[in-house]
Amino acid sequence: MDQGTRYDVLIIGAGVVGNAIARELSKYKLKIGVLEKELDVGMGTSSRNSGVIHSGIHYKPGTLRAKLNVLGNSMFERLCRELKVKMSYIGKLTVAQEDSEIKSLYELKEQGEANGVPGLQILKRDEMEKLQPGVGGILALYSPSTGIVCPYTFTIRLAESAFRNGVSFWLGKKVVAIEKRFDTFLVKTQDGETFTSRVLINSAGLYSDQICRLLGIEEYKIYPCRGEYLILDKRLGHHLKTLVYPAPHHGKAGLGIHLTKTVDGNILIGPSNEYVNSPEEYATTREIMEVLLKEGKELLPDLETSDVIRSFCGLRAKQTPPEVGGFRDFVIEHRKEIKGFINLLGIESPGLTSAPAIALTVKDLLEEVLTLEEREDFLSELPGFTGYFSELSYEEKMDLISKEKDYGQIVCRCEGITKKEVIDAIQNPLGVKTLSSLRYRARVMMGRCQGGFCLPRIVEILTKEFGFRPEDFLLHREGSYLFTGNVR
Ligand SMILES: Cc1cc2nc3c(=O)[nH]c(=O)nc-3n(C[C@H](O)[C@H](O)[C@H](O)COP(=O)(O)OP(=O)(O)OC[C@H]3O[C@@H](n4cnc5c(N)ncnc54)[C@H](O)[C@@H]3O)c2cc1C
Repeated sequence: MDQGTRYDVLIIGAGVVGNAIARELSKYKLKIGVLEKELDVGMGTSSRNSGVIHSGIHYKPGTLRAKLNVLGNSMFERLCRELKVKMSYIGKLTVAQEDSEIKSLYELKEQGEANGVPGLQILKRDEMEKLQPGVGGILALYSPSTGIVCPYTFTIRLAESAFRNGVSFWLGKKVVAIEKRFDTFLVKTQDGETFTSRVLINSAGLYSDQICRLLGIEEYKIYPCRGEYLILDKRLGHHLKTLVYPAPHHGKAGLGIHLTKTVDGNILIGPSNEYVNSPEEYATTREIMEVLLKEGKELLPDLETSDVIRSFCGLRAKQTPPEVGGFRDFVIEHRKEIKGFINLLGIESPGLTSAPAIALTVKDLLEEVLTLEEREDFLSELPGFTGYFSELSYEEKMDLISKEKDYGQIVCRCEGITKKEVIDAIQNPLGVKTLSSLRYRARVMMGRCQGGFCLPRIVEILTKEFGFRPEDFLLHREGSYLFTGNVR
């Protein structure tokens, strides 16, 4: 399929939402394209969050956030099995520290039950202690359907699955102008290309208000709100058996600073919440890092400053300005006055959890414009195994090494990643060639040494076996060169 193709559906934005939509729609006989401004999928908010599969207790009954959260949560297990993505329903304790917070736990329970969240229980101290030894607090709401997933692996695998089912991914294509001529959208990208489609889906996350403005829709504004995190060494991972969140505080922009275990066994402390001026303000700050460390030490007394591996942040696509705070519901609409324009905006948390259900909602809206005919040859399963080579049993490892010797060579010592996994990442189906793309696919450069050991070995594989020139290596974006020439 080339750019001359007239698509049935074009999706702007290859985050978790755009990719979930692409995969869902790839079950039908449609020509689908995804336009993404970055050089890889999932480089926006979808790789910069807590990775929690929320249960649905936090949102008002009747809202899209509540409905799509609960439905999305119930779809995760099967989807992760098909996409070979690690996930686990490890449950969550929402903890009251003082009497004044107890009422909010009962309100949350009632709200969750109204939303259809299964298995909610109020737990006393001794019952909390059994689930999470050492947890502070006087009473807790337990939600067993809360889970964890690796958000970037999930986002990438949705895209790879869509790609296997015929969706075209156009990376490095920033949409800068849109025109509607009769029943066709003409979508122009920054490099002067024009893509045409019958249906246009805006899934541009923090930039979705800007896409709206390209079509003359002025009523929305996104206010980026930064959440900073610290990533801790795996040494502390075993401390956390379940997730622990504070009881809610009205008017706060997030769910409060909490500890989250990742599927790979690290702990995240965060996220903070602070409105920023630009959707590109990804710097982390010393001030917030100190606050996170202090709060983290209160929650995990064993925590040492040297346990912090690195910091990162994500930006919430909020529809409410700082003076208002709080939450507004997701916008998911078919703009009938611009027939064929499906607009998604303000998809902040629980957008990761809701993504599979958002995709179903979009499919329903699409049926107002196109007749959908199911394909018989849809491939639901991705090949390969779930997780990493290092997580397999001894027998499984030996079996793989006997078939493919590169499994026997360790490239990343911290995480035990093999040469074969690096090569698979280099040969990824979407053809992405940045170092971040290897990081997110093979988990190299993510361990304790952050690439000190594996980066030179990866560079060697890329140059010697794939003919790359070091001066062409990019970290993640155009212009983010790693090497500029020889020192000697
Ligand atoms: C701190 C934080 C913690 C969170 N924790 C959770 C959680 O634990 N659980 C949960 O369910 N949700 C969580 N969320 C919410 C979740 O991360 C988001 O709802 C979700 O990632 C949104 O996905 P998206 O695809 O809409 O946006 P994005 O991932 O931002 O994708 C939008 C894409 O559009 C592209 N784009 C933008 N403009 C253009 C253009 N002009 N042309 C082409 N492409 C363009 C961008 O580059 C980007 O790749 C959290 C969010 C934050 C910020």
